[in-house]
Amino acid sequence: MTKDRLKDIRDYYDVVVIGGGLAGLTSANVLAKRGHSVLLLEQHYNLGGLATWFRRRGGHIFDISLHGFPVGMIKSCRKYWTQEIADSIVQLKGIRFDNPQFQLETTYDRADFTRLLVERFGIERTTIERFFDTTRAMDFYDDQTQTTRELFEQFFPGRSDVVRLLMEPISYANGSTLDDPAITYGIVFSNFMSKGVYIFRGGTDRLVGLMKAELQRNGVDLRPSCGVDRILTGNGGAGGVVANGRTIACGAVLSNANLKLTIKDLVGYEHFDAGFVEATEAVRLNNSSCQVYMGVRKGETIDYIGDLLFTSVAPTFDSAALRALDGTSRTFSVYYPGTRPGSDRYAIVSSSNANYDDWARLSEEEYKEAKQRLIEATLGSLEKYIPDVRDKLDHVEASTPRTFERYTRHAAGATFGTKFEGLAVSMDLPKQMPGLFHTGSVGIIMSGWLGAINYGVIVANEVDAFVSSQPSRGLEPARSVRTEGAP
Ligand SMILES: Cc1cc2nc3c(=O)[nH]c(=O)nc-3n(C[C@H](O)[C@H](O)[C@H](O)COP(=O)(O)OP(=O)(O)OC[C@H]3O[C@@H](n4cnc5c(N)ncnc54)[C@H](O)[C@@H]3O)c2cc1C
Repeated sequence: MTKDRLKDIRDYYDVVVIGGGLAGLTSANVLAKRGHSVLLLEQHYNLGGLATWFRRRGGHIFDISLHGFPVGMIKSCRKYWTQEIADSIVQLKGIRFDNPQFQLETTYDRADFTRLLVERFGIERTTIERFFDTTRAMDFYDDQTQTTRELFEQFFPGRSDVVRLLMEPISYANGSTLDDPAITYGIVFSNFMSKGVYIFRGGTDRLVGLMKAELQRNGVDLRPSCGVDRILTGNGGAGGVVANGRTIACGAVLSNANLKLTIKDLVGYEHFDAGFVEATEAVRLNNSSCQVYMGVRKGETIDYIGDLLFTSVAPTFDSAALRALDGTSRTFSVYYPGTRPGSDRYAIVSSSNANYDDWARLSEEEYKEAKQRLIEATLGSLEKYIPDVRDKLDHVEASTPRTFERYTRHAAGATFGTKFEGLAVSMDLPKQMPGLFHTGSVGIIMSGWLGAINYGVIVANEVDAFVSSQPSRGLEPARSVRTEGAP
């Protein structure tokens, strides 16, 4: 007999959150702390969304997206989560670059980058200061027509080596290219430059465990393995959801699922203006990723090779080459025992950007071969830094855009949500359909762990204001909500 994942569910909640990624979890926590009844439905059996991990035989544990985020996470986690979570955020000091244009190690902050740009790249200090000040002053309301390529051309004309230093890590961090609006680069780059790169000590499993405990303390009804099939509309707005075949009524729906799928599949285009549908169709998804997970055998050690290692044999920075099927650029994240205090284990995760279509069109046979080639190329690349690495590993496997799509239902396995235009569509959703909100990676700037958490807070504030302004909705039981589209 299958377990009833919605056992003892209430008839009505002030807010139903669809999806337990970092944005959805944060929104749910904020709303519950404001006194609203909150139900969180997550289709996967784990919470966390892309902020996740998995275990393998031999005592291996692999983090998927714990490679680095800006210092702002400490403040956001202290304010919207707990002091314990904030206190576990620690700096990564060894960020290494190795490519045909330069080899260097840095703490990846403004002071160290200024030093490198002056001493190694011969750039005038005043130019560097102006560049840093310009990017730091960027915000969402700025000129959105200047591209990142134009920004670099303005400050460092003809310097492809400088562009690579400044751009390559950000491309890995949010999928942006030289053709995206400069503000999507400037905002994220400045966030990192303020104090460097941080991770969560204890691993993603500990983080999500602490978040889950906090959500439960605040009364959020958490339901993993409950996929939402439909958002119900009625009374001129969103009024409920259908999950696991059950209808649940609510005062507001907050979707952390993929933006385009929320509008097109969960609600249906017929419920929106033609202009909004057109704008939604025009939203481009961001790229996806490939990863190779390498588990070091128990008892083996590896020497320090840096925490984050950006490697490439491509002659210059090139976004298309970064995503290519048999690409030669990858980032190694090395997890030393200190990542999980009390453990004596090492793991290495290689990440690269990827095009969904390159992987989606392969037959099963070709797919297996391409994954094997990815593993071989990754091990070959790692041997440069750890010559006997193959002898030390006892587990290796790869994931692709197809894997990310399967686990999160993100259209095209999008790693960082949508391109810039997605942000406006996400923010306009409640104007189109009162009571329906979206949060999660969109617009490049609202992506990554920090972007997702902060956007979760921003949208939770809007949901709070909406639900609080609708006292009658807040008391309506399921039976009295007229819903269209319920099966
Ligand atoms: C390989 C990789 C490496 C990354 N590295 C970093 C990094 O180093 N630093 C960083 O800051 N960021 C990194 N990121 C990005 C970061 O992980 C994401 O931007 C962030 O976690 C996204 O959070 P989210 O809340 O927007 O969405 P998601 O994490 O995608 O969560 C959405 C959730 O909704 C659920 N869902 C979808 N549809 C439904 C439905 N119909 N019903 C119920 N539930 C549903 C999904 O299962 C999922 O749990 C990385 C991402 C990837 C893939």
